Amino acid sequence: MADKDGDKRPSNFIRNIVIRDLESGKHDTVITRFPPEPNGFLHIGHAKSIVLNFGLAAEFGGRCHLRFDDTNPTKEEQEYVDAIMEDVRWMGYDWGEHLYYASDYFDQFYDYAEQLIKMGKAFVCDLSQEEIRRYRGTLTEPGKESPYRNRSIEENLDLFRRMRAGEFKDGERVLRAKIDMASGNLNMRDPVIYRIMHVPHHRTGDKWCIYPMYDFAHCLSDAIEGITHSICTLEFEDHRPLYDWFLDELKTPCHPQQIEFARLNLTYTVLSKRKLIRLVEEGHVDGWDDPRMPTISGMRRRGYPPAAIRDFCERIGVAKKESVVDVALLEHCVRDELNRTAPRRMAVLNPLKVVIENYPEDLVEEMDAVNNPEDPSYGTRKVPFCREIFIERTDFMEDPPKKFYRMAPGREVRLRYAYIVTCTGFSKDPETGEITEVRCKYDPETRGGNTPDGRRVRGTIHWVSARHAFKAEVRQYDRLFREPYPGMGGADFMESLNPDSLEILEGCLLEPSLKYAEPGSMWQFERLGYFCVDTRYSKPQAPVFNRTVQLRDTWAKIEKKLAQQQGGGKKGGSKKNKKKKGR
Ligand code: ATP
Ligand code: MG
Repeated sequence: MADKDGDKRPSNFIRNIVIRDLESGKHDTVITRFPPEPNGFLHIGHAKSIVLNFGLAAEFGGRCHLRFDDTNPTKEEQEYVDAIMEDVRWMGYDWGEHLYYASDYFDQFYDYAEQLIKMGKAFVCDLSQEEIRRYRGTLTEPGKESPYRNRSIEENLDLFRRMRAGEFKDGERVLRAKIDMASGNLNMRDPVIYRIMHVPHHRTGDKWCIYPMYDFAHCLSDAIEGITHSICTLEFEDHRPLYDWFLDELKTPCHPQQIEFARLNLTYTVLSKRKLIRLVEEGHVDGWDDPRMPTISGMRRRGYPPAAIRDFCERIGVAKKESVVDVALLEHCVRDELNRTAPRRMAVLNPLKVVIENYPEDLVEEMDAVNNPEDPSYGTRKVPFCREIFIERTDFMEDPPKKFYRMAPGREVRLRYAYIVTCTGFSKDPETGEITEVRCKYDPETRGGNTPDGRRVRGTIHWVSARHAFKAEVRQYDRLFREPYPGMGGADFMESLNPDSLEILEGCLLEPSLKYAEPGSMWQFERLGYFCVDTRYSKPQAPVFNRTVQLRDTWAKIEKKLAQQQGGGKKGGSKKNKKKKGR
């Protein structure tokens, strides 16, 4: 029952537990669940949990339920339910008919609560929230018993039924489990299991004015659904004794095993719904699916393929110890996937005009360009070439250093898929000093980029035909936060926001075939990076592109080295330079 043949998937301690339980016959199948609370959009941390839960179920022929943990009506909305379902599906997973809502079990939870009362294991408490907190004690001091703890079963039942019937105001009474106020585990000190909230619920409407607490609802939901392995994050480790207590006391038909793992933390990223909500509500981003957001919908809009996110989640593994993963690893997985799958195109983001003086005025040649060097099945396409082209402004230097292998006066450079040209001159705006035009001559013998005499031309640059290219908007994203650990040391995470995380380039010039690129489609712009057609701002024949991720830039490395050699080798300095370069 262990690994499938040839499966190179790295194991982890949870997978090992599952394998052991199947081998020992404790279970004959594996049933997991992904239990989001519909109070926000899913983020990359949830993706880790999704990949783990759905992945285990798929690997061992079991199933994974999608269960909305909708026990708190004040923060939950249908919009979130819909978005979560879309995101899980997009990630490539299918819960089949196993879509559940904790709110579907409200009647059963209520019956279980009455059962606890009848067993003398739960009581109605009239202390205020504040008093309950004070009575609970601390890690070093035991708690104090509530004066209402020894109410009779009859009185408790009567009060609980009246709580349900709506006789009391919010906060006036709660139902608590009667466990142990001296327990070393604070969660076991008579935890609240029901509270009064006169708030309608997005699914049950006005039917209930008492709602169960997470610790009570979650274990029971797992048991009702016959979950075998209830996988959650480490902060629930101290809740496990309570999870087990409810299921043991109530003798539920099955007793799932709760297993905790370390949540995902990422550098330069915040992954708490509370913080993400603030970014959205205070308008720092353009909604939950802003391409800079670490949400699944944001990453989708940004152009991250689901396969790359799954790959990332597999690579980071599953551990018991908290750690922070470098966001560069996620970007690496995205590049890896897109390198294999994204067709190549040429696009010039900051155009500089080049006139090829010895090229005939009216001639247009169709150059053969390879669509994906990683996969010949992508074929080739024709790219029009003529006397005037545009190149990237950063691909020309008036007075270049030695290792600059691009266009510069007197130097030869290869135009991708076209000819080798030699720069013969340039014009400058006398006032601003900006280069306005570059002149070249081409060598007609070098079509396709080869030199008949075998001379070596090191640099190859991309270009678009001035007559055929079309103008488009390209949105370049940088990290949303400037610091690797936003909000560290008690600072407000908002203070680390990067004010330059979005740069909109209006006058980009793109190869004509991109005009018909479908919203959501992903491309490599040669030498620049991966780009995806934005699903919100694009119009027919007027695509807007989002930069998904940059390609690695060897020039940036050389530049960094140079800067260091020149004594300016401060850390971070090179990063600034790199950012400027694209402009
Ligand atoms: P947040 O901290 O963002 O508010 P949450 O835990 O409140 O997250 P839920 O909707 O309750 O969000 O989470 C659903 C599932 O996803 C839970 O099992 C939770 O443990 C898991 N999960 C949430 N955040 C992460 C994370 N960063 N890494 C791994 N799993 C996570
Ligand atoms: Mg939660």
